[in-house]
Amino acid sequence: MRKKLVAGNWKMHGSRAMARELVDAIVKDMPEGVDVLVCPPAVYIGELAARHAGTALGVGAQDCSEHAGQGAYTGDVSAQMLADVGATWVIVGHSERRQLHGEPDDMVGRKFAAALATGLTPIVCVGETREEHEAGRAHEVIERQLGAVLAINGIEAFHKGLIAYEPIWAIGTGLTASPDKAQKIHSFIRSQLAKEDANIARLTRVLYGGSVKPANAAELFAQPDVDGGLIGGAALAASDFLAICAAAR
Ligand code: PEP
Repeated sequence: MRKKLVAGNWKMHGSRAMARELVDAIVKDMPEGVDVLVCPPAVYIGELAARHAGTALGVGAQDCSEHAGQGAYTGDVSAQMLADVGATWVIVGHSERRQLHGEPDDMVGRKFAAALATGLTPIVCVGETREEHEAGRAHEVIERQLGAVLAINGIEAFHKGLIAYEPIWAIGTGLTASPDKAQKIHSFIRSQLAKEDANIARLTRVLYGGSVKPANAAELFAQPDVDGGLIGGAALAASDFLAICAAAR
């Protein structure tokens, strides 16, 4: 049985005070029976991880360097540094990193490897653009993106790592994949893993992301291959985020 997980991706939002207030409210009313994770901007991770150490809350990063440890990589933060300040999770290959920072598939695969090597749990995002969606190319795009992670890390990496299906046309747009459409893609993702190892495919959690709100979360999470959500906008309001977490129970 796969335990549901709800992760909040704050993107570049908030302040130190807002981060404290938001996470205090989440921790206070976090439901049991579902893994809850917040991914604030990197500068707030250390303080939040220390403040809520010993609770069930997971704290993760939104990205990490593909390079290990230390080096001449101005502006980058390594997986080791994230782990050092208390992160235990990291998102890699978010579409905003792929599109705005030109991160190619193989770099995402190396970031996934860097996270695993440090003991962080990586969540790799995959998903098609609106044009690719309309051209019926979603499967092809996801197969390529996932293929790069598998080529570099092998199927065994999914003993620990997770996948988030995030159709780019649904991120921050208010458009959501219908539960049926999401289920079909999640099932396709699982079938890609099953080509390598049926047992790992069965156990790997596949999250859905793209305009998940309290009003649509329950129906999405009720799909047999949807194991929770990666939440953007609705993760910035404790009441919305908690309602989504409750829908995942
Ligand atoms: C995201 O940023 O990963 C995301 C899914 O955003 P939103 O929930 O706002 O669509």
